[in-house]
Amino acid sequence: MPESEMTNDIRVVFSGQESDDLSGWQPGLHPMDILLRGERLPHIWCQGCGLGTALTTFIGALQWLEKNRGWNLDKVSVVSGIGCTGRVAGYVRLDSFHTTHGRALPFATGLKLANPELKVVVISGDGDIAGIGGNHFIHAARRNLDITVICVNNFNYGMTGGQVGPTTPHGARAVTSQYGNFEDPFNLPYLAAAGGASFMARWTVLHARRLEWTLREAMLHPGFSFVEIIAPCSTSYARWNPEGQGLDPQKLRRRGLEIMKHYQKVGKIAHGTHPKDASIKVDDQGLITEIVEGIFIDEPKPELQDSINRQAEVAKKRWAQTQKALEDRPRLSERADHVPRTEVQLGGFGGQGIMSAGRIIGQAATIYDKLEACFTQSYGPEARGGAAGSQVVIDSNPIHHPHLIEANSAIIMSQEAYVKYVPQLAAGGILLIDEGLVSLAEDHCKEIKTYGIPATRLAEELGNVRAANSVMLGFWSAIVGVISKAAMRQSLADSVPSKTVEANLKAFEMGYEKGLEVGSHL
Ligand code: SF4
Repeated sequence: MPESEMTNDIRVVFSGQESDDLSGWQPGLHPMDILLRGERLPHIWCQGCGLGTALTTFIGALQWLEKNRGWNLDKVSVVSGIGCTGRVAGYVRLDSFHTTHGRALPFATGLKLANPELKVVVISGDGDIAGIGGNHFIHAARRNLDITVICVNNFNYGMTGGQVGPTTPHGARAVTSQYGNFEDPFNLPYLAAAGGASFMARWTVLHARRLEWTLREAMLHPGFSFVEIIAPCSTSYARWNPEGQGLDPQKLRRRGLEIMKHYQKVGKIAHGTHPKDASIKVDDQGLITEIVEGIFIDEPKPELQDSINRQAEVAKKRWAQTQKALEDRPRLSERADHVPRTEVQLGGFGGQGIMSAGRIIGQAATIYDKLEACFTQSYGPEARGGAAGSQVVIDSNPIHHPHLIEANSAIIMSQEAYVKYVPQLAAGGILLIDEGLVSLAEDHCKEIKTYGIPATRLAEELGNVRAANSVMLGFWSAIVGVISKAAMRQSLADSVPSKTVEANLKAFEMGYEKGLEVGSHL
C-alpha cells in the first residue's frame, strides 16, 4: 500500500454490532468466565504485562466466532510452549496443551493432521516460536498447514529474567546485553512471509479491538495464519530500556501504561504493507521509533490438508495401475505346489551368523526351490557382539512388501533378540531358541509353539561352535517344511567357506534329525 494511503483508519472487517452483542450475559458472571479456568487464577503475570490483554482479545475472538460463525469451541485446541505466554494454554477452558520449549508447532501439526476437524491455535512467545522453535515456525509456514499461530512478542525471554531473544531490537538492553544488543532481530511477519504463510498481521496490545477483529480473521483463514502481538514486558524488558526508564521499578502497572503510551506514539497502521517493510524501527539506544501494524498479507493459497488429499487421490490411481501391473507380472516361481506368504525372523548377536542364516534360507528358496523371496537385515552399531537381525519373506507369488508384517516363524539365538523380536511373532507361530543362550520370559505366550535346541552346545561337540546357526537351520527346515531339504543343503554348502562345508552340513543334519523327532508334535 502506498504511503499516502496509510491511515489510522480501522479496517472494519466485521460489524461491531455483532461483536459487541453481550445478550446472554448474566449479572455476576464475567462474560469471559466461561472460557477461563477460574481455578487456575490468579494468573502469574506481572502487573503492567500485556499478556492479559492478549488473552482477553483471543477469548473475545473465540466467543464472537462461536456466536456469529457457529463455531463449536469443543473443536478448538490451544497449544503453547514454554514462557510467560505459554501459560495461556493453562488458563483457557479449552482442550489445551502446554508442551516443551519450542515444540508447540510440531505438537500442533500432529494434532491437526491426526484430527483435521480441529481448529488448532498456537499461542506462545517470541523466544519459544522464533528462537527455540524457529525452525518449526518456518516449516509450518512453508507447509501452509491450517493452524493459527499467535506470537506475543515482548522482545526478550521474560520468564527466565530478561535475556536477549531473537526479536530483541538492535541496541536494546537486556540482562545479557548490558551495553546494547549487537545482533539484528527477526522481523517476524517477514519471516512468516518468507516461509510461505498466507495470512500475517501485527498489532500492539494497545489496539485491542483491532487485534480481536484480526484474530477472528486469522482463525477463519484457511491455511497458516500468523498474528504477532507486541506486548509490554513491564518487569524484565522495560526496566533496562528507554520505554520504561525513569519509572519507579516497584510500579510495574505504571510502567506498562507508559509503554502503551509509547505504542500509541510510534504505532503506524498500514494494512497491506509488504512484511519486508514492516521491521520495527529503533534508534541507536534501542528505543522503538516505529511499529507498523495491520494485516500485511491475506491471500488464498492451497492449504496442506487439501494438498495431501489431492496427492492421496493421485496415489490411489497410481496404486491401482501398479497393482494391475503386479498382478499381470509373470510368476517367477516354478514350484508346482503353492507356498503362501511365509515370514521368517532371525535374531541374535553379531558373529553368530544370523545374516548368513537368513541369506541361506532366501537363496535356497529362490535359486534352488524356484520360489520368490526377499531378504533384509539390520545391525546394531557394534561390529561384533551387538544386536543383529535378518528377515526373509518367501512366497509363490510376487512379493509386494519386502518387510515382515507378522512373522510365522523365528530363529532366536540371544536374549536381546528374544525380547526384541518375539512380540512380533504371530500367535500360533513357531519359535526356535538356542536353549543355552535364551530363557523364556515368565509371561511367554503359550500359543507360540516353542522349541529349545542346544544349538551352540551341539556345534561345540562337533568341533565348530560357529556352525550353531546351521543346527538351527536344520531344525527350522524340518519343522517349518516350506523349503526342501535338498535346497537348504545346497544353499548352505554354497555359502560357507569350503573348508567348513562338511562341518556345517553335519550340523545341519543334526538339527534336521532333531526337528524330525519333534515334528510329529506339530
Ligand atoms: S516477565 Fe514480562 S512477559 Fe513475563 S509476566 Fe512479567 S511482564 Fe509479562
